[in-house]
Amino acid sequence: MGKIAEYYYASSCRDAVERARALDSAAAYVGGGVELVLRRNPGVTTLIDLGRCGLSEIRETDEGIDIGALATLTEMSHSVPLQHYAHGSVAHWAGRVASNNLRDMITVGGAVARNQPWNDMVPHLLALDAQVHVLDDEERTVPLREFLRSKRGSALVMGILLPKANADAFGYLWRFTRTEQDIPLLHVSACLHIDTGVIGQASIVVGGRPGHAEECPQLSSQLTGHPVDHAAFAPVIESAGRLVDVGDDLRASGAYRRDLLRAALTGLEEFAAEVMR
Ligand SMILES: Cc1cc2nc3c(=O)[nH]c(=O)nc-3n(C[C@H](O)[C@H](O)[C@H](O)COP(=O)(O)OP(=O)(O)OC[C@H]3O[C@@H](n4cnc5c(N)ncnc54)[C@H](O)[C@@H]3O)c2cc1C
Repeated sequence: MGKIAEYYYASSCRDAVERARALDSAAAYVGGGVELVLRRNPGVTTLIDLGRCGLSEIRETDEGIDIGALATLTEMSHSVPLQHYAHGSVAHWAGRVASNNLRDMITVGGAVARNQPWNDMVPHLLALDAQVHVLDDEERTVPLREFLRSKRGSALVMGILLPKANADAFGYLWRFTRTEQDIPLLHVSACLHIDTGVIGQASIVVGGRPGHAEECPQLSSQLTGHPVDHAAFAPVIESAGRLVDVGDDLRASGAYRRDLLRAALTGLEEFAAEVMR
């Protein structure tokens, strides 16, 4: 890795973006620094610290819950608004992925900006239809899926908005790991709206395929409008292996991942039945 020649304390988000633009690929923003310490672009010689940019807060707004980019997984797991959002799934899992020490450092902004294929926050936030507050040429709020498609180097993630529309939905996250602190071999997240026993809306996202997180509208639409029972979930479980693009890597075969997919969606059926009780 290249040597760091400068550690720059940005005084504001605008200052951070201007510095990043001036240095182009020689600069990198620092979130928790977890990934930057392990693997960073060898051309990076300046790190831009965001600690003075006011990006650590988690707060409820009229639009939903705003999570500042520098909020750590530990802070998210302790956040009362998040504990009440979408059945508490974000707070619950923010307190369980990786390890204690890492969760104290990993930030939501770093997770989203880095977007490793096996990351757990990104697919879950996608399932919850999260938006991203971005600063680049201008400040704007865009759907996370759009941000991930069109991300530019100097774009600063200022925060994540969890929309109010999903506050009372049921967030589900399933990840298969070989050990408690392992990264997942497969990740499935979902958001279900259930009203008087009927699934009004569903969103299913699969990560660690081993490719990047992928939204699965064909699976999701099979659940919409159906009562929560086995008849609704059986076709989803049966068709997932054909509809979701999972494959081989050094850690697992595509066939194994298809088995995991069935297990994850069986888990989703059990979860839906459980929350109905
Ligand atoms: C051993 C280990 C196991 C892990 N296991 C898991 C796991 O199971 N599940 C999981 O979800 N995660 C896991 N992680 C965390 C994950 O791999 C990343 O390290 C983490 O998401 C990076 O967060 P960070 O805040 O430290 O980012 P940083 O290392 O600070 O930054 C990562 C990248 O994002 C950029 N960046 C940072 N903040 C911003 C911003 N606000 N705007 C724009 N760009 C920004 C940086 O310039 C850099 O390019 C694990 C990490 C380790 C080391």
